[in-house]
Amino acid sequence: MAFDFGIDRPPPDKPKRKPSKVSACFLFCGRILPAMLNRDGIKTFRKQLLAWFTQFQRDLPWRHTKDPYAVWISEIMLQQTRVAAVIPYYERFLARFPDVRALAEASQEEVLRLWSGLGYYSRARNLQKAAQQIVALYGGEFPRDEEEVMALPGIGPYTGAAILSIALGAKQAVLDGNVARVLARLGAVRGDFREPRRWQSLQRSAGELLDRKSPGDWNQAMMELGAMVCTPRAPQCLLCPVAKFCRARQSGDPEAFPGKRKKREAVQIVLAAAVFSTPRGQTLLMPPPGDKKENKPAADDVATLVSRMWHFPTVAIRKDASTELRNYLADSLPPGNGALQLEPLNRVRHAVTYRSVTVLAFRIAIAKIPRIQGARSIPLKDFSTLPVSNLTRKIARAALLESTEPAAKPDTLKLSLKP
Ligand code: SF4
Repeated sequence: MAFDFGIDRPPPDKPKRKPSKVSACFLFCGRILPAMLNRDGIKTFRKQLLAWFTQFQRDLPWRHTKDPYAVWISEIMLQQTRVAAVIPYYERFLARFPDVRALAEASQEEVLRLWSGLGYYSRARNLQKAAQQIVALYGGEFPRDEEEVMALPGIGPYTGAAILSIALGAKQAVLDGNVARVLARLGAVRGDFREPRRWQSLQRSAGELLDRKSPGDWNQAMMELGAMVCTPRAPQCLLCPVAKFCRARQSGDPEAFPGKRKKREAVQIVLAAAVFSTPRGQTLLMPPPGDKKENKPAADDVATLVSRMWHFPTVAIRKDASTELRNYLADSLPPGNGALQLEPLNRVRHAVTYRSVTVLAFRIAIAKIPRIQGARSIPLKDFSTLPVSNLTRKIARAALLESTEPAAKPDTLKLSLKP
């Protein structure tokens, strides 16, 4: 079966014909999309979507290039990140690292610093590892072969298909969340489309719909439709160039398709962080934690939560933030700092995938920053000169804000946490 979402299966006694390219198309059109989408219907569908894309696509910096390196950088940055947030990062990154070789030769610290604030830092680490492989194996030329592209760190089926089709015109269909939602609505398919069997079926459908003359534009058009018109909430069917082909729209409630995704329950995590502060405004940042061999770190693993980047001295809290932070500092700092006074700052909240993190940050006034191996003393206001995670940025901002604007403090820092 060419297009099977696990619904509308043929009766088992029906004789099966081996589908040719054409019959696969009819099977696809007849079963999932409205009957009007026969071979001519598919042509019209493609024409209308591409014409809409040509006229209404957003003017985005990565749409002005076919350089596989630049397309690759944009695709990696766009993963789980909004377009508006990516644009300034993309422009800065390409200005500093205009080609594979420049990225491969940079220090990891500089790459992470330019990525700092975009989140999901493994993307930046993998980018650089892949750039180093491209220099070592292909002389700095981005590979054109699918297998070679897919073997690079951080490149999966979606990213590989996007780079190869957009930059090199390969006939490969992309399937991301936006495209999957559009396809599911066109076929009025219900259920979690990330379920593996359904996802595979959607991938086949995306491949069958692909416009083979302009695969790069086609893929971008499908993604653009999902991002701008066929949005998760309140799809704008009146503006949709392919509305007449859509079963979800015909149902009268397109938003109901494909249905809600099962969400993992949020885990509550509490951390305490020390923001040292000298009379000259210096603070202490701990070095990026090294990689541990652990396969699956605990949900409150501090190294993971600070994205293995520079961070304030931080500890996961079980019960009493100030006591546990004092104990942690007593173990981490060299002796001779006297009794530390912990002044609570405003709480910082942060969400990472299924984790909901609350940070109880404390300012600790101190005459001189204690020496810890690998740690750095830097002006608090210059925290972003080092690569830091969004969590660390939020703590630094809370401390900077309160150094100028006294704010309400939490009533109590004793926590009663569920076991
Ligand atoms: S008609 Fe509506 S639901 Fe269907 S693809 Fe277009 S925007 Fe999405």
